[in-house]
Amino acid sequence: MNPIIFDQFKHPKFNGTYYHASSNSSPIFPKLIGEEKTDICIIGGGLTGISSALNLAETGQAVTLVEGMRIGSGASGRNGGQIVQGYSCDIETMIKTVGQEKSALLWSMAREAIEEIDRRINLHEISCARQSGYVFAATNNSQFKLLKRINQKLKNTFNYEATSVLDQNTIKKWVKTESYVGGLLDYGSGQFHSLKYLHGLTEVAKNTGVQFFEDSKAIQISGGDTITVKTAHGSVKAKTLIIAGNAYLRGLEDTLQRKIIRVTSTVGVTTPLSPTQINSVLPGGVPVADCNNILDYFRITDDKRLLFGAGADYLGRETKNKKSLIRNRIINLFPQLNEFDLEYVWNGFIAATKNQLPEIICAQPNIYIAQGFSGHGLALTGLAGILITEKINGVSERFDIFASINHRDMPLHPYRNPLLIAAMLINKLKDFYH
Ligand SMILES: Cc1cc2nc3c(=O)[nH]c(=O)nc-3n(C[C@H](O)[C@H](O)[C@H](O)COP(=O)(O)OP(=O)(O)OC[C@H]3O[C@@H](n4cnc5c(N)ncnc54)[C@H](O)[C@@H]3O)c2cc1C
Repeated sequence: MNPIIFDQFKHPKFNGTYYHASSNSSPIFPKLIGEEKTDICIIGGGLTGISSALNLAETGQAVTLVEGMRIGSGASGRNGGQIVQGYSCDIETMIKTVGQEKSALLWSMAREAIEEIDRRINLHEISCARQSGYVFAATNNSQFKLLKRINQKLKNTFNYEATSVLDQNTIKKWVKTESYVGGLLDYGSGQFHSLKYLHGLTEVAKNTGVQFFEDSKAIQISGGDTITVKTAHGSVKAKTLIIAGNAYLRGLEDTLQRKIIRVTSTVGVTTPLSPTQINSVLPGGVPVADCNNILDYFRITDDKRLLFGAGADYLGRETKNKKSLIRNRIINLFPQLNEFDLEYVWNGFIAATKNQLPEIICAQPNIYIAQGFSGHGLALTGLAGILITEKINGVSERFDIFASINHRDMPLHPYRNPLLIAAMLINKLKDFYH
């Protein structure tokens, strides 16, 4: 075993999140030094990589995972903690994009993605503050009409009965703000501490035989029947490669990421609030997200803090004044919450595709990529792991449904930045003027 020489979460320059600070067990793995041989090599130690590793190891495959920093350094340790049903695009848009039949299959797999989280939590006794219940909030009448149509569609087309419409008065029982005209309550969605969940899965994967290496960034991939993944001090030879770097993929060819853009979002977490303060903002205790293109999303953590996410920079730039951005969004929504301190603020990158459905594909016969979960990855990453495992083990029907989704290229340089800035402005204006 190589010596442990690295604890990036404790590094003074690491911009740690509330999740890192409140996770007590953070497994540490060695740096890759020398050559490893395995069946499957996975690049990236977030929920996609770990879920793929665990599922594959359970089917008897030898798996080696290389992580460039620490397990959970990327979006899986920097998110809103909201487990949301379905996909980032609404159901009407999904039906327009892939048709009714495929939408029904995609919807049932998205339901399975949430069930899989609960199955894993129960099976492995992972303590990660999992709770059910969720509110989608409408900031204007056209969003409210859409939520009502979605509610009907879910019931009539997908036999999903866990949602109910909240009018302007009843939504205040869940979230006390004048900003919402109505909403949709969904008992099928919910929340959890994503990093504790990830660490729990990692522990199980390690015990199932997965070999982990941290501080081991993949810097080169060479193909053929055997794939070689090079890191600074070693290499992994494998029959199959899974690329699970998502928005944090670094050091490899850009061509792997033609279908996604990296969107910066900002999250802030307050110091613990009093029961009176919590009751004055989120009396229902369930997470909330509005339906804007550039949305606010928030929830109360199990240690009674308000965790609030907002903002979107389509060029993936660092937000300059994260604290004032989050503070202003909170005050705008909840002017009654006059005294609060933000103890943590951070940026994270979301990988978004044009149609807001994830890209789960076989890029070459033995190279898989799963990315572009478009802000809905906490559940869908687990599904990606299951589908890739099925495909590698010769069962391809469900994987093929995702693989057949047509993803359009994102604009390439030199047009990329002006086009993305224009798209960002248009979305802001749409949110403002509706
Ligand atoms: C601010 C924010 C809020 C979000 N809120 C929510 C939410 O409330 N609900 C929801 O469902 N989703 C949310 N998401 C999205 C969700 O977090 C992601 O979809 C999900 O975590 C993606 O997991 P992943 O494993 O694919 O990627 P990541 O968790 O980003 O993991 C990728 C890993 O790959 C590693 N890596 C990259 N390049 C290399 C390399 N060359 N070699 C080795 N390792 C490499 C990285 O270091 C990283 O650890 C949010 C995301 C962000 C950023």
